[in-house]
Amino acid sequence: MSPDLEHLIELQNLESAIEESRRRIAAHPQRIADAEARLARAKEAVDAAKQRLKASQEARREAEKEAAVYQSRLSKFKDQLSAVKTNKEYQAMQHEIETATKELGSVEETVIERMVEADALTADVKKTEQALAAEQKNIDAEKKTLTEELATVEAALKEATAKKDTLITSLAPPLVALFEQVSRARKGVAIALATRDGLCSACHVRLRPQVFQEVRRNDQIIQCASCNRILYYIPPPAAAEPAVTHA
Ligand SMILES: [Zn+2]
Repeated sequence: MSPDLEHLIELQNLESAIEESRRRIAAHPQRIADAEARLARAKEAVDAAKQRLKASQEARREAEKEAAVYQSRLSKFKDQLSAVKTNKEYQAMQHEIETATKELGSVEETVIERMVEADALTADVKKTEQALAAEQKNIDAEKKTLTEELATVEAALKEATAKKDTLITSLAPPLVALFEQVSRARKGVAIALATRDGLCSACHVRLRPQVFQEVRRNDQIIQCASCNRILYYIPPPAAAEPAVTHA
């Protein structure tokens, strides 16, 4: 392969590596923010579970207050029962006692229901807290990995940029100018492989047979007539010898 072509391929590889590094560096803050958003959701789940438990406990206290009211009403009726004079009064008082007892029973049932509910809600709180702790651990690890990755990518970017600068100074300026012109016009990709069946792998246009012949020699700068990218060719590996087994 001609040194010019080889250098341009190398330049393209460096350009692509630089572009990829920049893309990853730019994506870093969003990846951190995504991890933090997941943590915030786990915290919200804990808060919501605690809120449900609190509401249930408040409802239970209300029911207990109500039960206390029925209790005192009931004992008042029982006190009055001994003081009634007539059978009619006695029956009326009995009726009052029955009603209050029923009401008390119903409120006490509510208290028990709320207690059972609180057990389930307490378990929910614990579950969400465990999930939060696990998520916290995951996210700490993830952020550490992301930070390490960022440092690696930044180092790779620095290295590729330095190599690119060195390479460019060693190339003929018109060659660099051609590369940069095509690169700008083609979203950073100035070089394309010619496929074995004679297509430009970037724009998929078929090369003229004579052009393809020339590209296959890899000894000059040839641009795709359609996308202008500089073409090169990788010959197929030599056919492997069929395996022979000796008896
Ligand atoms: Zn092309």
